[in-house]
Amino acid sequence: MLYQRSSSLFKEAEVVIPGGVNSPVRAFGAVGGTPVFAKSAKGAYVYDEDGNTYIDYINSWGPMILGHAFDPVVNAVIEKAKQGTSFGMPTAIETEIAQLATSMVTNIEKIRFVNSGTEACMSAVRLARGFAKKDKIIKFAGCYHGHSDSFLIAAGSGAITFGTPNSPGVTQGTAKDTLLAKYNDIDNVTEVVEANKGEIACIIIEPVAGNMGCIPPKDNFLQKLRTLCDQHDILLIFDEVMTGFRLAAGGAQELYNVYADIVCFGKVIGGGLPVGAFAARNEIMDYLAPIGPVYQAGTLSGNPLAMAAGLAMLKALDADKTVFKRLAEKTEYLHQGFSKVLQKNNVKHSINRVGSMISIHFEEHEVFDFETSAGANNETFKKFFHGMLKEGIYIAPSAFETWFISDALSYDDLDATIKAVDKVSKNF
Ligand code: PMP
Repeated sequence: MLYQRSSSLFKEAEVVIPGGVNSPVRAFGAVGGTPVFAKSAKGAYVYDEDGNTYIDYINSWGPMILGHAFDPVVNAVIEKAKQGTSFGMPTAIETEIAQLATSMVTNIEKIRFVNSGTEACMSAVRLARGFAKKDKIIKFAGCYHGHSDSFLIAAGSGAITFGTPNSPGVTQGTAKDTLLAKYNDIDNVTEVVEANKGEIACIIIEPVAGNMGCIPPKDNFLQKLRTLCDQHDILLIFDEVMTGFRLAAGGAQELYNVYADIVCFGKVIGGGLPVGAFAARNEIMDYLAPIGPVYQAGTLSGNPLAMAAGLAMLKALDADKTVFKRLAEKTEYLHQGFSKVLQKNNVKHSINRVGSMISIHFEEHEVFDFETSAGANNETFKKFFHGMLKEGIYIAPSAFETWFISDALSYDDLDATIKAVDKVSKNF
């Protein structure tokens, strides 16, 4: 494959955009090489600026659960755009998507739309703090909740001690209110809670983590967290930016039958346009401005094009009751295929999968938290990534990301992917 045009576009971009990209992981920093510039996409495939075709396993990092340029979404956006692209006034479609979202996710009564997952999580935490009248929050090492200051806190600084900022620009003042705990370790979370009794407003978690590879909750971790929160009067926030409307119509909450107090959404809920949302029962949501004291706003929030895309996507998912089962079956097929060829080629690996999320770590040990994920062999991952790219398979350019399976993938695509894994892993 040739990447001449991508290379020259990247050079041009680097002059006027920091690092040439508008979101860091796109720059291939973790795997090396020049990022591929996308030109267009349809269904399961992405086409780059040099004319190469890829079977896509990123799917815009999750939104394209039914494939790229999904006709109902594209048509809804085109039709809406003709009527004006933004008003800064309420519109009927905002209520329509809110009604549908709250009907699909059973424990939420009101939902507020924002423009990104970052905004959703940032606003959810502010709401939790305002509602609970406490300042501290607990997050888990290896979980990502967007780039707002409270969440950019490093792992490894000791769960009970104050967090340390891992990005310059995040003040110690902000960092000290974010406490870190270990994913899948309820004893550790309990210790942090006990050491900060009466001071913790909320615990925020990705119910299935997708930012250290795919990490499922184990040994009823979510149920135990729910109980701990109830015992200590702490609000539980599920960051379902990845898992919402992906693992089931009701997301991870439905899959695990554990219900959070506040739920954050992004990705699928916007059908590929910039949308996030946070939702809860009335008692909590009515704490928001304009009826409550917690301020939160957005000039383009509830934007008609974004709402049209999101509504078309949710309608499609709501109408097809078999879609989540089909996605899980396709993902399981991949899992089995990968295991078979990696075993045959004597490659150490550990595969995690939940619904349509899957990841491969090149290590034999079980991967269940940040430390075990970080311990996997990144050199092998780099070889794997570039090998797959050459075979026309586009996976996330980092071992710390999950793959997102779309329903547009055919079993021929899956077979081609398994074959590529076989070919690539023979050379490790
Ligand atoms: N939460 C989770 C779980 C995410 O995976 C992401 C982004 N990948 C975010 C929040 C932030 O969303 P955004 O990039 O739309 O701000």
